[in-house]
Amino acid sequence: MKYISSRDRRVSLLASQAILQGISKEGGLFVPDEIPIIKNLERLKGKNYKELTFEIMNRFLDDFDPDVIKICIDKAYDNKFTEEEIAPLIKVGEAYFLELFHGPTFAFKDMALSILPYLLKEAIKINNVHREVVILTATSGDTGKAALEGFANIEGIKIIVFYPEEGVSDIQKRQMITQEGDNTFVVGIKGNFDDAQNGVKEIFSDRNFADVLDRHNFVLSSANSINIGRLLPQMVYYFHSYLTLLKRGDICQGEKINVVVPTGNFGNILAAYYAKKMGLPINRLICASNENNVLRDFLNTGNYDKRRELILTSSPSMDILISSNLERLLFHLSDGDDQLINGTMKKLDIDGFYQMESLDLGEFYGGSSLEAETSSSILSVFKNQGYLMDPHSAVAFGVYHKYKLESGDNLKTVIVSTASPFKFASKVASSIGIDIDLMDEFSVIEELENRTGGKAPEAIKSLKNKTIVHNNKCDKKDMAAIVKSFLNVGESDD
Ligand SMILES: *Cc1c(COP(=O)(O)O)cnc(C)c1O
Repeated sequence: MKYISSRDRRVSLLASQAILQGISKEGGLFVPDEIPIIKNLERLKGKNYKELTFEIMNRFLDDFDPDVIKICIDKAYDNKFTEEEIAPLIKVGEAYFLELFHGPTFAFKDMALSILPYLLKEAIKINNVHREVVILTATSGDTGKAALEGFANIEGIKIIVFYPEEGVSDIQKRQMITQEGDNTFVVGIKGNFDDAQNGVKEIFSDRNFADVLDRHNFVLSSANSINIGRLLPQMVYYFHSYLTLLKRGDICQGEKINVVVPTGNFGNILAAYYAKKMGLPINRLICASNENNVLRDFLNTGNYDKRRELILTSSPSMDILISSNLERLLFHLSDGDDQLINGTMKKLDIDGFYQMESLDLGEFYGGSSLEAETSSSILSVFKNQGYLMDPHSAVAFGVYHKYKLESGDNLKTVIVSTASPFKFASKVASSIGIDIDLMDEFSVIEELENRTGGKAPEAIKSLKNKTIVHNNKCDKKDMAAIVKSFLNVGESDD
């Protein structure tokens, strides 16, 4: 299997090369040139999470030794996940919550970022790379910590994370700026996530920058979901949830389900789309946005328009106006028309919008939840079912509710639950009626535990006393310069 660039089909790489490179030089994203079909899905019913991961990822990682893939999987999905099942499926009322937040950083980014470092190390080996790999990452809050956690103290790799100073939650920020490890760098930028992501993409496509790094024996890679190595592990839990339903007898063989995905950069839901293409019986891919509802509008009209203010919400990991992975979907839906995608993405860059009304987006449904709706979702599910949702998952729940009312579709539905409620305690607590005025985040967490009987992860509570080790801040225009200074590759010898 080859990975081709969404903006230039002539660029074609092996899996390990695509993972190593992260993004194609002309700005395109790597997509698999064919999607393998899994036949006789029921046959996989007896497999545990790791075995299932192997079944799926092995089909996409042609140039990796299968035994090595198994070792990577073993190291990734070990006891740093607190649940044996890795991704438990919890029935709440009529819906099923697929909990993806039992990893080391309590958000779904751990599902992929616990394995990506091992895949990348292997990719370095396969390709005989003797340079130090520099991972550049923009984060809307959760990727940053999960990537730092995964790559800290890994020899031969440095990791640099850019987060929007004003755009992440208290806990998310603390998780990042207290990160230990000599190879880790964390920078708050004056700007939003889109600025951080654009800045990183610009560095990737800057030839001069690449030359400077090259001369100093560095090579860039990415831990964002623009890296195909992030998307492959994310397909697995969709299969796992389906097989769990099958095992429990909640669905019959071949029965279709819906999935609802709280969406920002379109990575998670794209993985669900790939799972569907591989043969997983998914009916509707329900894309849930918060008040930054560019995707809802696009899926309803075929017009993508980012010309609006980015709104900071209580689901910061979805505060995004430029959803990078949509580019991959457009590529597939247009039968791999690289020139069309290239032109469309250039247009988005220059004009801030594009129109693709001719695409058939029928397998998707786009909806959004306002802040007040998110609060009332959290409250009603807690009151009626005793289940506590984080704001991202609550955005998804709200859209699920609207979809059901609108469509009358009663298929079994999996709601992807992407973060621990204790990671976003203030919003959760105030939604269920706790008066959080004058309380700091850690008191809120304690109060939330008392009032709900839930248990906050120790690693979140202990952030209170952890030393801050990263104080870097920069303007969005200075991102390249700060990378150079971290790497000690000054302007003087350019
Ligand atoms: C990253 C993130 C999302 C959005 O996922 P995308 O793949 O970017 O669409 C949703 N919820 C949480 C908690 C996240 O960290």
